Formats: sequence, C-alpha cells, structure tokens
Amino acid sequence: MARKKIVAGNWKMNMTPSQAVALCAQLKDLVVNPDVDVVYCVPAIDIVPVIEAVKGTNVQVGAENMYFEEKGAYTGEISAEMLVDAGVKYVIIGHSERRDYFKEDDALLNKKVKKAISAGLTPILCCGESLEQREMGVTMDWIRFQIKSDLVGVTADQVKDIVIAYEPIWAIGTGKTATTEQAEEVCKGIRECICEMYDEATAAAVRIQYGGSVNAGNAAELFAQPDIDGGLVGGASLKADFGKIVCY
Ligand code: PEP
Repeated sequence: MARKKIVAGNWKMNMTPSQAVALCAQLKDLVVNPDVDVVYCVPAIDIVPVIEAVKGTNVQVGAENMYFEEKGAYTGEISAEMLVDAGVKYVIIGHSERRDYFKEDDALLNKKVKKAISAGLTPILCCGESLEQREMGVTMDWIRFQIKSDLVGVTADQVKDIVIAYEPIWAIGTGKTATTEQAEEVCKGIRECICEMYDEATAAAVRIQYGGSVNAGNAAELFAQPDIDGGLVGGASLKADFGKIVCY
C-alpha cells in the first residue's frame, strides 16, 4: 500500500498565541491537499488556541516535545496525557535542538517514544548527523545507532504508525539543503535499518520525512524520491510558502 505523504511544520520557539491564530487563518486555504497529511507542531502555549483555530480543517496539531512521566513534580514539563486531552495527535521527539541544547540522550528519547505511543500520540522521531560526522563518513552508522536506541522495546505494529524525520544537523536552519541524492540515500538506509530490526512490511509502512531547509523550490524533487514520504519544515512553515510545500 502506498504511503501517504506527511508534511509537518516545526514552529520552534516562534509565534505568540495571537500570532499563531493569525498564521492559521493565513494558511487555512493554502494547505489543502487531500494526498498529504498536514501537521503544525507548535509551542506548548499555542496548542490550545491552534487546535481551536484549525477546527474543521485538514490540519492536525503536534507538540514539539513532551515528558515521559504521567504526572507529578516535574516543573515545566508537559505529559503525553495532557497533550492527548487537548487534542494533539503528533509529537516531535529528539529534534537535534533538543538533543544538543537540552542534552536529551537516546535513553531518554526511547522513554519518550514509548510513552507517546502508549498514550496514543504519533511520534515524529528525529535523527541526523553533524557535518563532522558526514565528513568522517559515519553518517549511516550514527543514524542506525540513533534509530536502534530510540526504538528499543517498540513493536513492529507500533513502528508502522510512527514517523521518522531524517534531519541532517548541518541543513537545519542554514539554507543548505541536502542534495536529493543525499536525502534519499539516508532515508533509504533508515528503511533498511527498520527492515533489519523488524521486517519488510514494517519497513514498507513507516513514513520517513526529510527535514533541513525544505522550501517551496526544493520540496517537489525531495518528496518525489521513493523513500521520502514528506518533510519536517522549520523556517518555511511560518509563512505562506508552507502552502506551496504542502501542495508541491
Ligand atoms: C527543523 O526545525 O526541523 C527544520 C528542518 O528547520 P528548517 O526547515 O528551518 O531547516
């Protein structure tokens, strides 16, 4: 069965609640493509107003992070249960900014992935190499390590429904997109890794996005690759161009 494309915006730490609602109104008619699942991953404080603002549209809402514990003394954190209750469907886990600035390691990310799945959220699990790793020729080794560590204890049936985002760190927010060949090569490698860990049917079902300076000009070529099932989009998700990416 063909995999449905999925294009998700990662708003990062942008958009106050009122700006968020205005952006939803601006994008409303631009992001309609029945062949693509459209997701806005938004800052925690924007979740409730954005869910209200996209009611009745084709847009689903995602969080940019969550904690793995159910509740309790974890000041500043948000639980999977809170997200589900608010109407959130997706959650980004392991974005390179969280791995780097907030020191989230693969053991923690594995707990988050399992918690998200058990609560009924779809994780968008990010992986990606640094420029140094690419130049050293260890890109695929590193990504395989991340995927294998982050999916410990996750079953084949669960993996079929998650989204994996391949985001080379050197391409995020830099305007430097991976070439189509580089992006496809790694996304294909991730699918092969899933096949080894699980089976062919699971590998064929899991959706793998490319992320890293995706824009209105390069989306069509990237999304046409056999192993790229859409994109995780940062900067370009905050403007009308996001519509052109969704309707590539
Ligand atoms: C991201 O934040 O996940 C991302 C890919 O950002 P950008 O599109 O701005 O490179």
